[in-house]
Amino acid sequence: MDADVIIVGAGPTGLAVGRELRRRGLSPLLLERHEVGHTWASAYDHLRLHTRRGAAALPGMPFPPGASTFPRRDEVHAYLRAYAARFALDVREAVDVRAAAPEAGGWRLSTTAGDVRARVLVWAAGIWAAPVVPDLPGRAGFAGEVLHLRDYRGPEAFRGRRLLVVGAGNSGKDVATAAVGVAASVAIAVRGGAVFVPYPNAVSQRSGELWRRLPPRLVDAALRRVRRPYPELGLPFPACAPHEAVAVVGLELVDAVRAGRVAVRPAAAAFTDAGVRFADGREEPFDAVVLATGFRPATDPIAAWLDEDGRPTVPGLFVVGDRYPTLETFLQRLRREAPVVSRGIAAAVVAR
Ligand SMILES: Cc1cc2nc3c(=O)[nH]c(=O)nc-3n(C[C@H](O)[C@H](O)[C@H](O)COP(=O)(O)OP(=O)(O)OC[C@H]3O[C@@H](n4cnc5c(N)ncnc54)[C@H](O)[C@@H]3O)c2cc1C
Repeated sequence: MDADVIIVGAGPTGLAVGRELRRRGLSPLLLERHEVGHTWASAYDHLRLHTRRGAAALPGMPFPPGASTFPRRDEVHAYLRAYAARFALDVREAVDVRAAAPEAGGWRLSTTAGDVRARVLVWAAGIWAAPVVPDLPGRAGFAGEVLHLRDYRGPEAFRGRRLLVVGAGNSGKDVATAAVGVAASVAIAVRGGAVFVPYPNAVSQRSGELWRRLPPRLVDAALRRVRRPYPELGLPFPACAPHEAVAVVGLELVDAVRAGRVAVRPAAAAFTDAGVRFADGREEPFDAVVLATGFRPATDPIAAWLDEDGRPTVPGLFVVGDRYPTLETFLQRLRREAPVVSRGIAAAVVAR
């Protein structure tokens, strides 16, 4: 199954790049560890896009009529499968790429389906496969349950239990607010702060395109007005520049904190036998802790061919979709960038 171009990963990035390469007359082969759109098949049940369906659609195919304005996880998964079928993308599912190395004029990949060769390798493996788990002391002695967001499915597992969510990003907000009224109590540990924006309308969804064209100084001044912190609730502006902060979309967490349904705590510093000690020294008992502490690029199999910044150091290797924008959403940017990236990939195939 050798190919001119091999794309590792059949999520939104791999599919969008694959479609663009097909438009350029290439026949990329996509190798996927699980199934098309696996991240959207396996994430928590109540996950929805906070990007409107019009802005979230990949190049060349809108979401179907009747899809939710902010599509649910299962709608995104079905859309991605339909996208792969519509553009007849050659996806080999259940193929795990374990390693890749350059060889004369191309790449050799070691996979669970044997060795494969390609002239150009496109790494589109996302971040979901590489959760960031903070190394908090005392975890082994903690009597409760600890799980990373990647293994969280929904709030029912915490019925009647005292829950701590670590991390106040979009996912931490989702987990904490979904547990209200189900868990016995809900707290959220906030390390640096958080900024909030309302759900976008059709006009504001496009504002990221404006922001990224302006000088950072102007963007920061504007964002300080648009992205709202709630310091009186323990949710101050993060220490970074406004254009570097990822905004939490929707005010559900703010409302829940204000209503006393979710308690805000400082950063988690350590586990105790019965709970967690926070950065201010306070200890509190918990039955379960969800780590909504993020992800890093899933690039371990090609780490030898990347510099410290994660950029390829050898020709014929492209890493796509490993960075998350802060001024617009991932899928908005992917829609714009997939054609551009694909032009470079197609040129590399010709050059090799
Ligand atoms: C919880 C959550 C909510 C999000 N919400 C939004 C949102 O509202 N709006 C928005 O624009 N963006 C959102 N994103 C960001 C982004 O849209 C998604 O992460 C998107 O799935 C990224 O697409 P991807 O193809 O780069 O990565 P993924 O969708 O993660 O796809 C990567 C694929 O690579 C496969 N893979 C990994 N390693 C290997 C290997 N070694 N061999 C073979 N296959 C491999 C995986 O199985 C996976 O299927 C969200 C992300 C998360 C995690």
